[in-house]
Amino acid sequence: MPTNILVVDDLPQKLLVYRAMLEELGQNIIEARSGEEALKQVLRYDFSVILLDVNMPALDGFETARLIRNRKRSTHTPIIFITAFADEVRTMEGYAHGAVDFMMAPVVPEILRAKIRVFVELFRLNRQVMRQAEEQIALADERTKRLAAEEANRNLSFLATSGAVLGKSLDFAATLQDVARLGVPYLADSAYVAVPAIDGIGWTAVAARKNDADQVMFEKDVARQALPEHLSTAIDRIFAQRDLKRPGEVDPAIESTGLMLIQALQARGQTIGVLALKRDTPRGPFTPTEEDVAETLASRGAVALDNAQLYWNLREADRQRNEFLSMLAHELRNPLAPIRNSVEILRSEGLNAADLARSRDMIGRQVDQLIRLVDDLLDASRITQGKIRLKLQPVDVAVVVEHALEASRPEIEARRHRFHVDVPSAPLHVMGDATRLAQVLTNLINNAAKYTPTEGEIWFRVRAADDGSIVMSVRDSGIGIPQEMLNRVFDLFIQVDRTLDRSVGGLGIGLTVVRRLVEMHNGRVEVRSAGIGKGSEFTILLPKCEPVAANPAPVPEQANGTKTESASCRLLIVDDNRDSADSLGLLLTLSGYSPQIAYDGHAAVALAKTLRPDVVLLDIGLPGLNGYEVARRLRADVDTKAACLIAITGYGQDENGRLAQQAGFDRHFVKPVVFDELLAAISKWKLAGP
Ligand code: ADP
Repeated sequence: MPTNILVVDDLPQKLLVYRAMLEELGQNIIEARSGEEALKQVLRYDFSVILLDVNMPALDGFETARLIRNRKRSTHTPIIFITAFADEVRTMEGYAHGAVDFMMAPVVPEILRAKIRVFVELFRLNRQVMRQAEEQIALADERTKRLAAEEANRNLSFLATSGAVLGKSLDFAATLQDVARLGVPYLADSAYVAVPAIDGIGWTAVAARKNDADQVMFEKDVARQALPEHLSTAIDRIFAQRDLKRPGEVDPAIESTGLMLIQALQARGQTIGVLALKRDTPRGPFTPTEEDVAETLASRGAVALDNAQLYWNLREADRQRNEFLSMLAHELRNPLAPIRNSVEILRSEGLNAADLARSRDMIGRQVDQLIRLVDDLLDASRITQGKIRLKLQPVDVAVVVEHALEASRPEIEARRHRFHVDVPSAPLHVMGDATRLAQVLTNLINNAAKYTPTEGEIWFRVRAADDGSIVMSVRDSGIGIPQEMLNRVFDLFIQVDRTLDRSVGGLGIGLTVVRRLVEMHNGRVEVRSAGIGKGSEFTILLPKCEPVAANPAPVPEQANGTKTESASCRLLIVDDNRDSADSLGLLLTLSGYSPQIAYDGHAAVALAKTLRPDVVLLDIGLPGLNGYEVARRLRADVDTKAACLIAITGYGQDENGRLAQQAGFDRHFVKPVVFDELLAAISKWKLAGP
């Protein structure tokens, strides 16, 4: 390819001469008639050499050369000055401006051509070298891009495979292994995944390691000592603060070090594990891209582990529910058998008074047991759904304790336990609901009695702690609780011994209720046990409060009606369960009343119109016209509006009590009703009535 040669002279004929001389070199000759014109051309083209007349009118050759040199693009372009005067000083000046050569005019064509040829050749060589260099750079650039693309592809396919592997199983242990295994050998030479231990104490780790034969070896339950020191401390710290961390946050103190990359596994805002990737020296430290890949692996691993955990929880809840149902059936059946037997006995003829009394007592006891079970169940469901409201007021701890001890005495005495009570004589108060607190203590003491073999020891202690809380503890010498169950006994339906032939009953809800109630009192409950056979201790901590003027204890209602009152009381029973209605009718008849009975809502309204009852005992769940509606109609009718309306329902929720009140009921009783209390409420009609 020809190069450009710039010829600068103010005389056109001279330009013509140079052109003729240089023609045979086969290059592009570009002419300029002045320094300014030369500068313009220099801006436009690259020249292999510039032939410059020194002596020009406006801008002389030296000045033009200086300006050419000043332009970056032409700094190194060779310049040959042509001058008519061989003046030593001017020659020096020319060199100072960067002349490459001087030629005296008239120029010898061969010499000029020879010189120019050299520069043209040099320019060509230069251009070639430049082109080659550019090619090299482009090549290197392309290779880097290709490598980056290949790496990105590899990472993508690694992450795609990881996604597929992790999506394959919902088994927690298998997923744990997968997360570790995926890290090796792609990202590291060994990978560790640590998760909290099943018993909730400490953590366990699995490891995947590459051996000398490049196989990945897998290890479960890696001992703490087998982990690099730095790693086990890091895991401790991550777990210690796991609830405080937000996703993506890494504690700066455990920042990964060059050959070890530590990632918290986080799902739903919680740290659920730790992934550590470790490299042996030859591979060198992790690059930023590799750190990104590891982070993505960690986040996918965390989601997979979290899913597996949720799935396990669901299955576990299902299993527990099934176990609970069979436990419930078993517990309900237990009292039913003696009741049926007693009924058969009562049916037999010629029964003596003692057998009659025994059967009657037996039925009474078993019905109480059934009531207790149902109450427990309802309580648990209402408490866990947050449906109960506490009546909080300063409560004297001694009163609560007294009620609890009274309620649990039969259980303790039946098992002949030695019971040690240590309650300070100075009065202590907590802000609480006395009935619920007594329920909590009764539950704990009854458990201590149940889970301690006969003639054991139970210690009950109350004290005021320095931090202002009231501490109540129930300790026993009983069967104890295995370490891994300590955290779980408070969960719903959890029982250490789930065999149906276990000697002591219960539905596994008592402690759930205990914990919930204590928490509702802003307290907490703790359990300790040195293990199986070593006894247990349950401790409740409640905030202390200052007493206020003592409230008089509510006086239980007494059945104070007399026979004459009963006889004059017009009583209506409404219940669609005929057995329920008839048996209540019989009981009331035996108590001197003459009740009338209606078995549905419409019949009740019609009967009430003629009977004009003083008291109506009204079931709520009636077909057609429900109890609330019946109550509203009775209240709306002038003949019945003054009656005392008592709701008797199977639904104990506060909500039902409120509805009953709105419908115009005066009282609300939950089935099965304690008969004495019902009698008391009926006889009260006389006192408060018309
Ligand atoms: P339940 O007693 O009806 O089974 P709880 O919720 O009261 O249900 O208790 C749950 C489980 O905790 C019990 O089944 C028992 O295994 C264990 N537990 C409770 N209290 C004690 C105790 N004092 N000693 C040993 N185990 C206990």
